[in-house]
Amino acid sequence: MSTLATVPTRTEIAIDWRDALRTAIRTPSELLEFLELSPEQCAALEPCANEFAQLVPRQFAARMRKGDPDDPLLRQVLPLAQEQEAVAGFASDPLEEVDATRNGVVRKYAGRALLIATAACPVHCRYCFRRHFPYAEQTAARDEWQTTVSTLAEDRQITEVILSGGDPLSLSNRRLGALVKQLDELEHLETLRIHTRFPIVLPQRIDTGLLELLAATRLRIVLVIHCNHAQEIDATVVAAVANMRHAGIIVLNQSVLLSGVNDDPDTLVELSRQLFAAGALPYYLHELDRVAGAAHFEVEASRALELIDAIRSRLPGYLVPRLVREIPGTLSKTILG
Ligand SMILES: *Cc1c(COP(=O)(O)O)cnc(C)c1O
Ligand code: SF4
Repeated sequence: MSTLATVPTRTEIAIDWRDALRTAIRTPSELLEFLELSPEQCAALEPCANEFAQLVPRQFAARMRKGDPDDPLLRQVLPLAQEQEAVAGFASDPLEEVDATRNGVVRKYAGRALLIATAACPVHCRYCFRRHFPYAEQTAARDEWQTTVSTLAEDRQITEVILSGGDPLSLSNRRLGALVKQLDELEHLETLRIHTRFPIVLPQRIDTGLLELLAATRLRIVLVIHCNHAQEIDATVVAAVANMRHAGIIVLNQSVLLSGVNDDPDTLVELSRQLFAAGALPYYLHELDRVAGAAHFEVEASRALELIDAIRSRLPGYLVPRLVREIPGTLSKTILG
């Protein structure tokens, strides 16, 4: 058995995730002030709000380094003027998902169906490939899941349902519990996978109610957390992952390769090591999806291959994520290295 995770302080446990979202930092100026950056440092960053609003819980901002304009966590969440620049090849629906979506169900791969469970997220990541997704038209939770569940019931080839979004853990335990119960009754389903950034950004979300509802189903549960940098992992994250594992949940991690955040071998090696120390195995390292507004995060494909080779020479095989890219119209992610 793994050793017990460091117990977070009472104040950390006492935080309610909904309160944390209500009091999140929503303007660039407030975030930069919180980080004690000088006016010159702020001006050099060229922060600039746009329609994909800034959203950063204070618990996540607290893991950023004060006074460092190049902090890798800050770069993931601060809206910059660069986002407004139109760059050739960067589109609003880079994965052509809108056409593959019916009743909030994205059906692109054999055996697996992805649900757009909600539009809400605990943080707004500037590189997000769904930043322009028409959520209002495609949200599976609308009618207490009925349409979604009937869509899944019709197709007996589906063995795995993947909850995505938005972040599916933005839904209340009541709504999630209602969904899990209905999925449990579809005999052809075996696995429920949840893709979420909550265990990283607001680990308080992994509460007893959630762990109980996930333990109550016959479905195997896989949780894919989204962590891009070891600095995101603190004692509250370690405790949340430990609790998930104690509930019998398999925990994997997916990262996006981001320029200025994690595009060097030392950072990627440290990320894999810290994930493993916390109890999560690296699954995918994604090349950036070419979404409008995120061009400044792109890492050249040749550099990405160099990086994966470099970390492979330094880590055991099970700590090397698969370098993947999503190419619209293909039947799986494309493995590059
Ligand atoms: C990535 C993705 C999946 C899951 O793919 P895995 O390779 O099994 O992780 C399923 N459906 C859609 C639409 C996806 O984009
Ligand atoms: S949490 Fe996921 S879906 Fe939400 S903004 Fe970040 S990358 Fe996008």
